[in-house]
Amino acid sequence: MQTWLGPEFIKTSEGREADAILRSCVHCGFCNSACPTYTLLGNELDGPRGRIYQIKSLFEGKAVTRQTQLHLDRCLTCRACETACPSGVQYAKLADIGRAEIEKRVPRSLPQRLARSALCWLVPSTGRFGLILKLARAARPLMPSALKRYVPVAKSPGIWPQARHARRMLIPAGCVQPVLEPGIDSALARLLDQHGISAIPLYPGCCGAVSHHLSASQQTRTRIKTAIDALWPHIEAGIEAIIITASGCGAMLREYGYLLREDPSYSVKAARVAALCRDPVEIVESLPLGIVGKGRRVAFHPPCSLLNALKLEGRVEAVLQRAGFELLPVNETALCCGSAGTYSILQPKLARELRDRKLRHLQLPRPEVIATANIGCLTHLNTASEIPVVHWLSLFEAG
Ligand code: SF4
Ligand code: SF4
Repeated sequence: MQTWLGPEFIKTSEGREADAILRSCVHCGFCNSACPTYTLLGNELDGPRGRIYQIKSLFEGKAVTRQTQLHLDRCLTCRACETACPSGVQYAKLADIGRAEIEKRVPRSLPQRLARSALCWLVPSTGRFGLILKLARAARPLMPSALKRYVPVAKSPGIWPQARHARRMLIPAGCVQPVLEPGIDSALARLLDQHGISAIPLYPGCCGAVSHHLSASQQTRTRIKTAIDALWPHIEAGIEAIIITASGCGAMLREYGYLLREDPSYSVKAARVAALCRDPVEIVESLPLGIVGKGRRVAFHPPCSLLNALKLEGRVEAVLQRAGFELLPVNETALCCGSAGTYSILQPKLARELRDRKLRHLQLPRPEVIATANIGCLTHLNTASEIPVVHWLSLFEAG
C-alpha cells in the first residue's frame, strides 16, 4: 500500500517504522475474518484492515478524532490478524505506534483519564493490588454471588523447593498473579525440581505489559528497566533461562529488545533478557513427565499471547496428551477470550461477549477442567465459567 507521510513524521523513527509496516499491507482483508471485534461488530473500521487504514490516515497528516481512538481502543491486540496475514504485516507494532500518536492528539475524557491512571497505579503494584483484593475478600461474604466471582478466594502457594540442583532457572513473579494464583509458579518449581532443575523465585515487579497496553510509554520503559535491573545479577551468575508462567507477560519480555532498541544503556541487556525468556512449555516438553493425567478430560484455551506472539500453537496440548490427559476438541480455539490485559475493564461489553462465546465452546464437550496458560484469561473466564479454569501447570499437581 502506498503511503505519503505527513511532514511531521518523515524524520521520526516512529514515522519511518509505521511507513514500512503500512507499505507491507496489500489491503487484501484476509485478516478480517480472524479478528474478534470484526467478528462481533461486522464493521470494517473495527477490523485490522480498517484500523490499518485509520493509522495510515493519521501518519499522512489527516485529522484523527475520538472515533478513531475508539476503533483503536476496541482492538484487543490479540494479533490474530498477524497470524492470518499472508504478507507478514506487523500489525501490533503499527497499532502501538498509532495509539501512542493518537494519545498525543486526541484528549481523553476525564473519566477515561481517571480510569486509565488508576489502572496504571493499581494493577502493576502487587502491594496495592494485594491490599485491595484483601479488602474485597473481607467483604466477600456480603456480596451477591455474581460479584463474588470477581473476587477469587485466597490460596496457598504450597512449598517452593530449596535450590539443590546444578541446573538453575529463574521464575520471576508477575504483578497480579502472586496474589490471585500464587500456586502457579510454585507448581512449576516443584515440577522442575522433580526433574533435576532448581527454580529461583524473583520479584522484579510488573513486566510493563499493563502500562504498555495503556500506551503509557514512559511508565512502560521505567518498568522494563526496573525488571532488567532485577534480572541482570542472575543473568550474570549464569542462569539458564527466565521462565514466565503467564504467557501475556512472557510475550512482553520477548519484546524487551525491540522496545528498548534505541536506549544506549539498556538495549543490549534488554535483548539478552528477551533471548533468555521461555514459556514453561518450552522447558516442560523436554522432561520425562510420566503418565499423571489418568484420562482426565481437559478443554484447553490457548491464550492469544501463546498462539500469536510466542507462536507455540499445539505445544501445551501435546504435553498434556503425552502426560495422559484427554484433550477435548474445542471450536474457535484461536478466538480471543476478551481478557487482553486491561481490556475486560475498559471494554466490558465486548469482553463479556467474547468471554461468553469462548466459554460456550470450552464447556460444550463437558470437560472436568478448563486449562489455560495466562493469568488474565484464567481470571476472566472464571468470572462466568461453570467449570473450574486453571493454569495447565496446576494439572500436574492434581493429576
Ligand atoms: S494486514 Fe495482511 S491480511 Fe490484512 S489487509 Fe493487510 S496484507 Fe491483507
Ligand atoms: S489485534 Fe486482534 S482485535 Fe486487533 S485488529 Fe488484530 S485481530 Fe483484531
